[in-house]
Amino acid sequence: MNIHEYQAAELMEKFGVATPRGRVANTPEEAEAAARSFGTNNLVVKAQIHAGGRGKGTFTNGYKGGVQLCKTSSQVRDVAASMLGQTLVTKQTGAAGRVVRKVMVAESKEIERELYFAILIDRATSAPVIVASTKGGMNIEEVAETDPDAIVREPIHPTLGLQAYQTRKLAKLLGLSSNLMRPAGKLFHSLYNLFIKCDCSMVEINPLVVTKGGEVMALDAKFNFDDNALGRHPEIVAYRDLEEEDPREVQASKFNLNYIGLDGNIACLVNGAGLAMATMDIIQHFGGKPANFLDVGGGASEQQVTEAFKILMADKNVQAILVNIFGGIMKCDVIAQGVINALRQREAREERMVPLVVRLEGTNVDAGKKLLKESNLPLIAADNLEDAAQKAVAAAKNGKH
Ligand code: GDP
Ligand code: MN
Repeated sequence: MNIHEYQAAELMEKFGVATPRGRVANTPEEAEAAARSFGTNNLVVKAQIHAGGRGKGTFTNGYKGGVQLCKTSSQVRDVAASMLGQTLVTKQTGAAGRVVRKVMVAESKEIERELYFAILIDRATSAPVIVASTKGGMNIEEVAETDPDAIVREPIHPTLGLQAYQTRKLAKLLGLSSNLMRPAGKLFHSLYNLFIKCDCSMVEINPLVVTKGGEVMALDAKFNFDDNALGRHPEIVAYRDLEEEDPREVQASKFNLNYIGLDGNIACLVNGAGLAMATMDIIQHFGGKPANFLDVGGGASEQQVTEAFKILMADKNVQAILVNIFGGIMKCDVIAQGVINALRQREAREERMVPLVVRLEGTNVDAGKKLLKESNLPLIAADNLEDAAQKAVAAAKNGKH
């Protein structure tokens, strides 16, 4: 799960990570009031979307920059008015961009140096690792490509945690002067503490800055949380912004479905993550493009299948659906009934029908096939996975049964 920068700033404040004062605003008036409350003429307005690269981004109406420095609170109001409700396109949003619904107004700092500092989980060692660079404020992937030596990695022992010698080593590698060792150490430790306590999968501070006033501060933050640990963090779940998520995934999560939206035109409903991957691969192999990953799991109920099917059919890009079930714990007749329910509901509402290829094998397969046959719904039966994939690709191409 991702959160907004202003929420990350709130968390950082709670954990004692130095960050400029900031407040979120939903309207130009709120932005102006926030600016006044800081009692300074060094201000910055930042578009709040779940994507980086805002500074260099452009709004679809031509307005430039999702991060703007301002000198007065009325200027803050005007800048907020130009951003709110507009669509911001950055390197990370894709061409469609994201609608800006909130801005953060913060006290702006005069920057001496911009650094990069992140903590993430290294899958190779199954432990946290700190990634830092003197090249901050820019795309770290680009730095990794053009100047890999400018990036340092410091593995953290999972039970001992971040050690004092490591913070000193990092501060030195980042070229921080001796008088900044102590505040930098405090910042690194507080951030590591936050990372562990909140079950983050990543915290990325880009840039971490040294100000002209001699402070070390987190100027921008991107946090990611381990979804499997959200059960013990209601305060973080409360930060969830559904507007920033794929609506198909939001719907799927309501029914505990393992669904990930993609941009192809062949939807698939499969049981088991491995089989779901194989199904996507074989669709691609025969020249199609999967519209989603969906694993209904071993114990899906009829209602879950019905809801899953509704999500697939409501997706406007979908030209064909491939149901691939290998019944083990999952029973083929349960899947069949779920599919029938969803189709009947659509029929009743006279909604668009999508060609449907079904491959069932395993537990209660005969009962499942019988249900589908007796439903008299237009289905394309398939004998095996290859056959099913080819039929789905052909159906999507023809746009007919
Ligand atoms: P991003 O483009 O989405 O990563 O947004 P950032 O918050 O990182 O801002 C982009 C760039 O704008 C930073 O790298 C800084 O150079 C600049 N910037 C952001 N906030 C401030 C600020 O408070 N003061 C100054 N002087 N520059 C800032
Ligand atoms: Mn940034």
